[in-house]
Order: sequence, then structure tokens, then C-alpha cells
Amino acid sequence: MELLAHAKLNLTLDVLGCRPDGYHDLRMVMQSITLADNLTIHPSQGERTQVRCNFSFLPNGDQNLAAKAARCFYQALGRSAPPLDIRIQKRIPVCAGMAGGSTDAAAVLRGLNQQEGLPFSPAQLAQVGEAVGADVPYCVLGGTALAEGRGELLTPLPTLPKCFVVVCKPDFSISTPELFGRVDSVKLHHHPDTSGMLAALQQGDLPGVARRMYNVFEDVLPARQAVQVTEIKQTLIHFGALGATMSGTGPTAFGLFTQRSDAEAARAALAVDYSDVLLVQTADPIWT
Ligand code: ATP
Repeated sequence: MELLAHAKLNLTLDVLGCRPDGYHDLRMVMQSITLADNLTIHPSQGERTQVRCNFSFLPNGDQNLAAKAARCFYQALGRSAPPLDIRIQKRIPVCAGMAGGSTDAAAVLRGLNQQEGLPFSPAQLAQVGEAVGADVPYCVLGGTALAEGRGELLTPLPTLPKCFVVVCKPDFSISTPELFGRVDSVKLHHHPDTSGMLAALQQGDLPGVARRMYNVFEDVLPARQAVQVTEIKQTLIHFGALGATMSGTGPTAFGLFTQRSDAEAARAALAVDYSDVLLVQTADPIWT
């Protein structure tokens, strides 16, 4: 079975507060893009599920989110998981704020659901994904969606008008727990205009969407990292992006373009300084 696992970007990301269970309440507008990992799943002769991946530093056993998804799927079915051979051709940069691991997990859930004769509806499968990770329910459904709670409360939104997206991941990683700690220790003065974003999506107003893109984690980045993310955004805007922001807990920044030629020029300019720069497009929801 061959599967595509699309990356996601955050058009908005707001942290509403810390919950008694230690998690944070979030409000995010998410968007799938055409950048995707390729997965294959086969029954295995071995004793345990194995994950083989072109990025050798990723876990190859139970710790890989793809293997965890298979375990959770069969647990939800009430059956013991058969050993599987999962192969992942990774194209999505790791620890980039693009849900690379979560989307692989979601693809495994969709693939196994198909293979087992669709025992779960899309909404039920997204619920199974909650046990794998907070971004997995969204990745099961894809497209344009509002994600609330830890990220598991999903509302499908009108599809973002087609556009070109330049994605650039600077060469440093950011600790997600550290960023949440920083958000908790300051008073956030700015929040995304989420209701304005929803209205712009409703109207198919791409400039209105781009203008409202905002991620509160950008406001608490360590200074050196903030400089790089800002520089990337400025380059994107300079070459004609309608708007630019950081995705997730970063460090990837991206911009939306209407003209392919502008997006090409931005990609080429950023590629001088950064190795992970891609020109992609938005992707449709997996289920409509
Ligand atoms: P998010 O946007 O959901 O916060 P991310 O894009 O920042 O995620 P990932 O690329 O999903 O980060 O990787 C996060 C961690 O998950 C890494 O430490 C990695 O080792 C682990 N991981 C486990 N399985 C996978 C997988 N299939 N692909 C990528 N990372 C994986």
C-alpha cells in the first residue's frame, strides 16, 4: 500500500492558556501543502513492526510515530497489531513545525483503515489519532481547518484559494517545551485575529488571509533565532509574498504568493543562504 503524507502549515497559531492537565489550549488555522512524505506498508515476516526511513537518525521501531499509529489503530479495533514493514521516504524536514511525524502517523491510520475495510469514519479515525499525538487528528483530515483544544477539536474551513507557498527552514532547531515555557512566562500583547481569518477564508479573500497570518511563538523566540526568522519573512515579502509567518513552533517560515514567478524568485534568493527551501502549493482536504 502506497500513501502520501502531506505537511501542514499554521496560518495562525494562538496560545489561549495553560490547562490544569499541563497541556495548553490552542487556537490554530491549519493548512495542508503539497510537500509530502511517501509511505509504503507491507505485512512483515518479522516479530515486530519495523520502520525504515531515508533519515537514519529517526527511530526505526516503536518510537517512530508511524509504528505508534499502527499500534493505536489495532488497539482501537480491539485486535493485536500484526507486525508491519513500514517504509518512509521523508521529504518533510524534521523538527520544523510542519507536523512531519504526525502526518506519517495519520497516513498509516488512513492506510490501515482502508485495508481493514473502513471500520472507522474519518471523524472516528481522527479520534483514534489523538492517542498518537495532538496534531494527528488534523493530519488525518487535512485541508484548511480550525484546530482548538490541544489541537484535536477540528472544524473544517472553506478551502484556501489556490496559491504558491515558499517554505524555508533555517538550520537550527527550537525546543518546543522551551517555547511553551517562554509563552507561559510573559504576557502576550498580540494575538492573531482568528475571527477575521475565518471571515477572510469564508470570502475566499487570499490577501485578507495572508494579512492575518500570525503566530504568537514568534514573539517569544530567542533573539538570535528571531533575527533569522524575521530576515526570511522580509525576503519573502520583498519578492512579493502577500504575507509571511512562522509555522508551529518553528523554525520554518513561509510566504503565500499569487504569482509563480515571484515565488520562484523568492525561493532562489533564499536558497543562497538556506538548504531547506521549497516552492509548493496548498493541498485539498483528504476527505470532503
Ligand atoms: P509539529 O509541527 O507537530 O510540532 P515538527 O514538525 O516540529 O512537529 P517532527 O518532524 O514531527 O516535528 O518531529 C518531532 C519528533 O518526532 C522528532 O524528535 C522525531 O525524532 C520524532 N519522530 C518520530 N517519528 C517520526 C517520523 N515518522 N517523522 C519525523 N519525526 C518523527
